[in-house]
Amino acid sequence: MFTVDGVETVGVVGAGTMGAGIAQVAATAGYDIVMRDIEPEYVENGFESIEDSLRRLVNRDTLDQKTADAARERVEGTTDLSDLVGADLVIEAVLEEMDVKRDVFAELDDVTNEGTVLATNTSTLSVTAIAAATDRPGDVVGLHFMNPVSIMEGVEVVTGETTDDDTVDLVHEFAEGLNKTTWESADRPGFVVNRVLIPWVCEGIEAYDDGVASKEDIDTGLKLGTNVPMGPLELGDHIGLDVVLNAAETLHDELGDKYRPPVLLRRMVDAGHLGKKTGEGFYNYD
Ligand code: NAD
Repeated sequence: MFTVDGVETVGVVGAGTMGAGIAQVAATAGYDIVMRDIEPEYVENGFESIEDSLRRLVNRDTLDQKTADAARERVEGTTDLSDLVGADLVIEAVLEEMDVKRDVFAELDDVTNEGTVLATNTSTLSVTAIAAATDRPGDVVGLHFMNPVSIMEGVEVVTGETTDDDTVDLVHEFAEGLNKTTWESADRPGFVVNRVLIPWVCEGIEAYDDGVASKEDIDTGLKLGTNVPMGPLELGDHIGLDVVLNAAETLHDELGDKYRPPVLLRRMVDAGHLGKKTGEGFYNYD
């Protein structure tokens, strides 16, 4: 791992699944982190998730205790966005809602110094539209980490229509310093990964609803037939069926009928069967 010249402090906005994961890997690489959420209990949850994850890595001998302790020490929590004033790079990982993200970026524009790169971890939303909430859209870029951040090697760099080349170069270097491999996507719905992955999950759901095969056979077929670790129904449960529906709706809105979410997916979300996180989705997780 290495740190980028000129970047010492990284601000992370949102201390949920992704924000905590990003804070953890960046702190492990040696950056000082200021992690912000809106309520003290959410910041506390972020710390708990960082500590759990570091503990697991130590138990698996992936990380030594001294490095884990040093990483934990480098993360500071806050509910006050103005504490990000000294950040050299900010990564936003709040809810996947355009209005919320645009409000956060307008505030970040005021609070941070000009030239501070502002990255969004959005999975599907337009980076260009988020950037337009600021007066310096050239500093805004997509930096799409995968879940779980400490394990997944890939990071997607999304170039908005207005993103400056220097901004793009900086986030590539930053992600590579965290031992990640990057690729680049234009700012189009779903970027590379979710544009291909979400319809794949949806097609698995359609095939099940059409009675083509049992859910187990669909997952086994795709796992063994295409050499992936999870079939589409298992993966939908893992991602969260509400998250899949939300992403499918964004693709459908912007790209048309080919991306229409399956009716069964809507019904599962209506029923509150969201997958692993609620204990029930296509499978049971008691
Ligand atoms: P999450 O719900 O676990 O966490 C979001 C956090 O943001 C919550 O703690 C919430 O309190 C906080 N928040 C809301 N408004 C805020 C504000 N104004 N300032 C600071 N914090 C605020 O969500 P997540 O799964 O971590 O997803 C975050 C982002 O990452 C989304 O854009 C999502 O699409 C993207 N993403 C998620 C995954 C995944 O698998 N979970 C993978 C890749 C990308």
